[in-house]
Amino acid sequence: MTIEIRKVTVLGTGVLGSQIAFQTAFSGFDVTAYDISDDALAAAGDRITKLAATYRDEVPAAADGKADKSAAGIALTTDLAAAVADADLVIEAIPEVLAIKQETYQRLGEFAPERTIFATNSSTLLPSDIKDFTGRPDKFLALHFANLVWKYNTAEVMGTSDTDPEVYQAVVDFAAAIGMVPIELHKEKAGYVLNSLLVPLLNAAMALSAGGYAEPEAVDKTWRIGTGAPVGPFQILDIIGLTTPYNILANSGEDGQQLAAWLKANYIDKGKLGIASGEGFYRYSA
Ligand code: NAD
Repeated sequence: MTIEIRKVTVLGTGVLGSQIAFQTAFSGFDVTAYDISDDALAAAGDRITKLAATYRDEVPAAADGKADKSAAGIALTTDLAAAVADADLVIEAIPEVLAIKQETYQRLGEFAPERTIFATNSSTLLPSDIKDFTGRPDKFLALHFANLVWKYNTAEVMGTSDTDPEVYQAVVDFAAAIGMVPIELHKEKAGYVLNSLLVPLLNAAMALSAGGYAEPEAVDKTWRIGTGAPVGPFQILDIIGLTTPYNILANSGEDGQQLAAWLKANYIDKGKLGIASGEGFYRYSA
């Protein structure tokens, strides 16, 4: 039996959901996007219009009206049952709150046809935390995108011990079909591959500067010259924005809380939040 994926429904149309819906429509799939309220859908409409403009500017294949056609092709709805009634694949990108995810999967499991595969884009939860609420653990796994999917196009695929290998392979193939580079994980790992590498690097960089050993510029220069990487850890932090790392560190152990306090006093309290605010570890011109 080969699993065919043609119709894709994205749950949640925020930062990542809107990008996933757009990239999937842009790649020629039928896309429906669901969110909880008319206000959320109005915001989704704005996000999709902005994405069409970004694709026109940044994605060579978006010429000849393809970006606008993709934007117009995404069906938006607040009706969950209708959204998933004929879906081959549901990609969930709703808030990172376990109770919200579990409640949503419970309803989803009732509404979706038996064949429908469910994939979570969760960054910090494991699919095992959710699988028992799906009603179909064999057709459930994580498909994790990076922010700015058209540029940073990894798609980490991670199942549980219950995920059917054919379902896993179908999702790997789907990721490739929408222009992602599938990264296959053989078992569950918090942080997947990317954040398992990135978070320790960023924390080590902050510990060097917070401890008074070296300035951020020196740390970044060392990393760039010493490894050939195009950017250093503090440049990456400015791209991510300092608020998310701050929140994670503030809720971690003692070492993390010290780094959080350093970030807060020297950067966050001074409005230096990264590229988005014009200044973080570096200054950016508009
Ligand atoms: P977001 O807050 O931008 O968007 C969440 C969306 O979900 C909103 O549109 C909200 O209206 C909607 N929503 C709220 N409750 C809902 C419900 N019960 N059912 C359906 N929709 C609901 O969040 P985001 O940054 O797009 O993150 C979404 C998921 O993607 C999270 O699991 C997060 O871990 C993951 N993720 C985020 C990033 C990132 O850089 N932002 C990267 C990779 C993965």
